[in-house]
Amino acid sequence: MSATGNREQLPLDLLRQRIRAAEVRFSRVPNSVGLLAVSKTRTATEVRHVAAQDQRRFGENYLQDALPKLDSLKELGLEWHFIGRIQSNKTRQIAALFDWVHSVDRPRIAERLAQQRPKELAPLNVCIQVNISAEITKSGCNPEDLPPLVDTIVRLPRLRLRGLMALPAPATEFEQQRLPFRRIHGLYQELNAAGVDIDTLSIGTSSDYEAAIAEGATLIRLGSAIFGPRSA
Ligand SMILES: *Cc1c(COP(=O)(O)O)cnc(C)c1O
Repeated sequence: MSATGNREQLPLDLLRQRIRAAEVRFSRVPNSVGLLAVSKTRTATEVRHVAAQDQRRFGENYLQDALPKLDSLKELGLEWHFIGRIQSNKTRQIAALFDWVHSVDRPRIAERLAQQRPKELAPLNVCIQVNISAEITKSGCNPEDLPPLVDTIVRLPRLRLRGLMALPAPATEFEQQRLPFRRIHGLYQELNAAGVDIDTLSIGTSSDYEAAIAEGATLIRLGSAIFGPRSA
């Protein structure tokens, strides 16, 4: 099978068809793979255009870039996911403004998010970012630190542990792309087998989402495939 390393922008309908086709090809339950539209560096107008095509979930990496967008799109009632590296002085705003955080990678950040999640809001959905193999960023907990971090998070009442996230270094060959995803899927299954109630495996970007679907992704995070190439 050829690599999926194409970053071409596709109409959302066609992208959805490709996701459904990959579910069939890799024997996944129909509609079991969700789509997070990664809107970092995009304008509120671009987000509005995509949201109008029945896309509800959006991901942001940089708090300062996200704040004006979240504010100007408030009336749309979109679901916002924070997927970037978290500095501890940003947790208060992240806890107040986002519905999900995918990039929790250390106990201190989890504790701060829990303390700062406003009482009138539902618990914050969190995924633990795992550093599976030479990740692009230095973020992510090491696999051996995962069990204690899971224990910490499940005890925090204002957080709801939903699953795991990874952002492996890019690979061009399809079989190479699958390897780190297979490892994190293994960790995900181990947690489930140990009775940790999680339902989200957040893996796969525009260049490797089919490999991620092959390895059990339940939420893929696509930026350039939806919005076109990023200038930044
Ligand atoms: C930018 C980003 C993506 C999306 O990448 P694309 O190649 O534009 O699809 C997904 N996940 C994270 C954590 C990102 O920072």
